[in-house]
Amino acid sequence: MTRFDIITIFPEFFNNFMETGIMGSACKKSLIQIKTHNLRDFTHDRQKTVDDRPFGGGAGMVMKPEPIYEAVTYLKTESPKIDKIILLSPRGALFNQKIADDLSNCKRIVFICGRYEGIDERVSVLCSDMELSIGDYILNGGEVASMVVIESVTRLIPDVLGCEISPETDSFSQKLLEYPQYTRPRTFMGLDVPEILLSGNHFEIEKWRRDQSERITMARRPDLLSDHNLNKEPY
Ligand code: SAM
Repeated sequence: MTRFDIITIFPEFFNNFMETGIMGSACKKSLIQIKTHNLRDFTHDRQKTVDDRPFGGGAGMVMKPEPIYEAVTYLKTESPKIDKIILLSPRGALFNQKIADDLSNCKRIVFICGRYEGIDERVSVLCSDMELSIGDYILNGGEVASMVVIESVTRLIPDVLGCEISPETDSFSQKLLEYPQYTRPRTFMGLDVPEILLSGNHFEIEKWRRDQSERITMARRPDLLSDHNLNKEPY
């Protein structure tokens, strides 16, 4: 079982996330466990204050270090041992499939979700092992970003997807974008399913799919192909 702990001021964000679809069934089958921790439970004033004005002036509020430090210290007393503490941040390493792969080997990951203008820098120094960004844009908070990371890591955990779906053929797992997919009907609005997919010739179908993947990747994301060996034997 892989456990994800999330430190957030909005634990309710995660209710549907952990009950729905593949994430829901992974939780029910005890393949993963998602535990939210309300940051306000780690404050000691009547207002449950988690933010304060920035030193040096400027707009907005900054998340205080003490409640986050206390939450992380508390989580460290629980088992299993924490493998990674991740601070969600736009200035973090850009999240990708390779990082998802690496994280899928962890048994327990803690996420710290920021809000407001950001988090006191000492949290990064004292509490986190890595900062992760999910893209070059600004969200309101780290909650959605943590869900992105948790969902893509969960897909890689054995038995989560069931044997009929394979994460190895997903886009990015082989540095290629996925080939076009079709289902019934054979003709829709004048557009036919490519003949080869109806041929039953699995070798030729694999070849066609690989060729399509390479063409699409070349056209849309040539950066992915820099260290990919084109024209290899079909997988
Ligand atoms: N002032 C900050 C800046 O310019 O970098 C942005 C703060 S943002 C409004 C509040 C929180 O959302 C951040 O502390 C972080 O936890 C989360 N966040 C926003 N964008 C993110 C991204 N692209 N990836 C990961 N987390 C993000």
